[in-house]
Amino acid sequence: MVRRMRTAALVLAAGRGERLGSALPKAFVPLAGRSLLARSLEALASVPEIDLVVPVVAVEALDRFAALAAERAGIPKLAAPVPGGRERQDSMAAGLAALPSDVGWVAVHDAARPLVRARDVSRVIAAARATGAALLVTPVTDTVKRVRGGVVLETPDRAECFAAQTPQVFRAELLREALEKARAEGVLATDDAQLVERLGVAVHAVEGDPSNRKITRPEDLAWAELELARRAAGEGGRT
Ligand code: C5P
Repeated sequence: MVRRMRTAALVLAAGRGERLGSALPKAFVPLAGRSLLARSLEALASVPEIDLVVPVVAVEALDRFAALAAERAGIPKLAAPVPGGRERQDSMAAGLAALPSDVGWVAVHDAARPLVRARDVSRVIAAARATGAALLVTPVTDTVKRVRGGVVLETPDRAECFAAQTPQVFRAELLREALEKARAEGVLATDDAQLVERLGVAVHAVEGDPSNRKITRPEDLAWAELELARRAAGEGGRT
């Protein structure tokens, strides 16, 4: 009998988030009374296709995470936290290494994107299951320049430019292989799709929602509070 392969979400929360200007690690900063991390965990746990949700937390923040019992209560599918690493890629690798062997699909998500909608997560999981690798993107509105040393190198066609979001979803074996190659070649990427692209494997882009914005600066937090209030008031309040 073929065993069903489970789908896990890795929620990366081990960054310092200095640009937010808070004394707390970014993932623990409250957004309308609930931490970014708890909101991200909850958002992914609400997705029917996801079987378990694994937080990846900085070693120094494990006690803080344990103390958030009330915030975590009521989040189903939650696995024990995994200590993260120095760079985002190290945290992803730590989470991947900790997954049970029956996990066949991995959705990697930034805890800093607490407003992702369940339906968009389901769509990107469906695309990955059909193809092996997919991520959420949004079209950029600005013209993008590649700049080095203050000089423009090139202007890519804007119609072909998209901002990468998370979740990024992969067949677990493919992500492991991509990580091994990157390690062997000393490559450090800012997202996971980039590692899979380097294998020469097609990564499928699924258009997501601009409200799945990464909370980086104080103004992003202020925007997210307004967005939550808008959702609560029913404007675009679908999940
Ligand atoms: O730094 P950046 O904004 O790219 O971080 C994206 C996500 O990766 C954040 O949710 C952050 O907590 C996480 N991260 C991590 N481990 C690191 C650095 C970042 O889990 N060493």
